[in-house]
Amino acid sequence: MSVPTLAADQSVCAPLPVLGRDVSVPLVTGGTVTYAALDYAASAPALQRVWDDVAAYAPYYGSVHRGAGYLSQLSTDLFENARKTVAAFLDCREEDQVVFTRSTTDSLNLLAAALPADCQVFVFETEHHASLLPWRDARVTVLDAPRTPQQAVGTLERALADRDPHGPALVCVTGASNVTGELWPVRELAEAAHAHGARVVLDAAQLAPHHPVSVRDLGVDWVAFSGHKLYAPFGSGVLAGRADWLRAAEPYLAGGGASRRVTRRTDGGVDVDWHESAARHEAGSPNVIGAYSIASACKSLTEAGFDTLVAREQYLVRRVREGLAGIPEVKVLSLFGDDAPRVGVLSFVVEGWNSSHFAAALSAEYGIGVRDGLFCAHPLVRTLLGGDPGTQGECGAPEAAPGERSLNAIRVSFGAGT
Ligand code: PLP
Repeated sequence: MSVPTLAADQSVCAPLPVLGRDVSVPLVTGGTVTYAALDYAASAPALQRVWDDVAAYAPYYGSVHRGAGYLSQLSTDLFENARKTVAAFLDCREEDQVVFTRSTTDSLNLLAAALPADCQVFVFETEHHASLLPWRDARVTVLDAPRTPQQAVGTLERALADRDPHGPALVCVTGASNVTGELWPVRELAEAAHAHGARVVLDAAQLAPHHPVSVRDLGVDWVAFSGHKLYAPFGSGVLAGRADWLRAAEPYLAGGGASRRVTRRTDGGVDVDWHESAARHEAGSPNVIGAYSIASACKSLTEAGFDTLVAREQYLVRRVREGLAGIPEVKVLSLFGDDAPRVGVLSFVVEGWNSSHFAAALSAEYGIGVRDGLFCAHPLVRTLLGGDPGTQGECGAPEAAPGERSLNAIRVSFGAGT
């Protein structure tokens, strides 16, 4: 297998400074090499600016919403200001709420727990498990993988046309696939959903780090994303959007911070008056560093300018694609075709290779960190590879002997720090 080399385009701007660019890793052949992080879609490295902001804040760390002391007051201000920064980053509507969660998975599970009674949920089989699985207690319709963005809209329209138009409904869509990196027609899907009285939640885990996300422009009702994929790896995420379903629901977690007033009843029980603000779903001591680091990342990306970031990343996408196209044994996975717009996420298989062995060799022999497996999107990868890899550990890769047809894939992903 011969690998083509391509000339770099000097006109493309420099990457944003991130941690880990100079980390040396050992090679099986002896010696060390500078690590090449190509697994941004799993977790992106922290932006240097995020790290610096967190370090500057760390001595002032205090409990949020609970203390009269200076540090508590400061932390509360930073936490609440972080909400405003995220709302601005997502171009939220005035009345939207920003709830801090642990991750995209947590955000979507929170929304699933807040669905009104009898809510119907529509979701494509192509979703990451985080957006495919939380709705299983609702009346879910799982839609077949479309082969074009137009087909996605048509499939959704047909499914919605058959539903009871009076009951509540939610459509869950992903902005950019964590397997193919392909962009989904979010605005068109949201229009179709709204035309049939359904609401829309956007899984922006892979979109927000690469593209501006405007709740208003896209017309979605909620957006979920994770800090650790947006260069802010401190265990936090966001669910932002309409307040009404969230306000009407029982708190996601019961506990301090979510409750406004708690009283004992004479029969021995306890009555609770829950907050109506985002705090309703943030019981317990919030992750102030996580929220602060997300806000720092949002500011950094906004200041760097998405126009520049997108242009740079598209150049990198082109280089990777051209390089892979020159290797006959490589097949890049795609639902929407070679020319479909995509973010810096791309999966492929190499003929004659088990993807897990190939990825292990990239790490051991070259210090290149990629992801192998089914990427927590089993139905999608099965559709793309046309085979069933069988049972395996969560997100793991199936075992296959060297040389067998691979039923899992290799993913390279990159971003603003690459
Ligand atoms: N949605 C998509 C598209 C993802 O790629 C991921 C993670 O890879 C998730 C949701 C889940 O994100 P997290 O693990 O941060 O909850």
